Amino acid sequence: MSDLELKMQVHRTALYNCRLCPEMIGPVVTGSPVFSPILLIGQAPGDKEGGFGKPFAWTAGKTLFKWFERIGLDEEAFRARVYMAAVCRCFPGKNPTAGDRVPNKDEIENCSAWMKAEIDLLKPELILPVGKLAISQLMPVNKLNEVIGKLHRVSFHGHEAEAIPLPHPSGASTWHRMEPGLTLLESALSILQHHNAWRQVCRS
Ligand code: SF4
Repeated sequence: MSDLELKMQVHRTALYNCRLCPEMIGPVVTGSPVFSPILLIGQAPGDKEGGFGKPFAWTAGKTLFKWFERIGLDEEAFRARVYMAAVCRCFPGKNPTAGDRVPNKDEIENCSAWMKAEIDLLKPELILPVGKLAISQLMPVNKLNEVIGKLHRVSFHGHEAEAIPLPHPSGASTWHRMEPGLTLLESALSILQHHNAWRQVCRS
């Protein structure tokens, strides 16, 4: 085992044992420990992901993986070749009105230490933040229309990378199913398809 692989193993053992946020509901959910040039960042797992032990394992994932399959990587290949992280790695619980609770500032801050460790280990060339909360960790975002469909240069936890923001594929969101979201999503996927890091993981 290389030094880097050992560090990744130590990191993931500590991450899986994290119980820092009292309102968060375990287990910790994160993707495969793949040394990829691409890092995907979701928001937080839903109530089903813990049972499957992997992110985007339910309905939103079906939509997300259809997008990636159209440009060359099916779900199995994507999970094996892209590191899948999230702003928070535990289920935040249900919102009393509808949907899942959005992680609070302290929870985001707590969990960002795990992200920083992964950035240090992976030094990703390309970051794919999925949904407004994830995108807002990398760049200011007022409206999704202003950031999706473009390639961005970002500095994230002291690391310089490129980022292609994507909308959240949740069925509760209509943004990616209506104009201008439809067209902007297609632009984002086209930029991704031609990106050097994507071509690299498709070949691997
Ligand atoms: S959300 Fe992150 S920081 Fe909070 S308990 Fe889960 S893994 Fe730990």
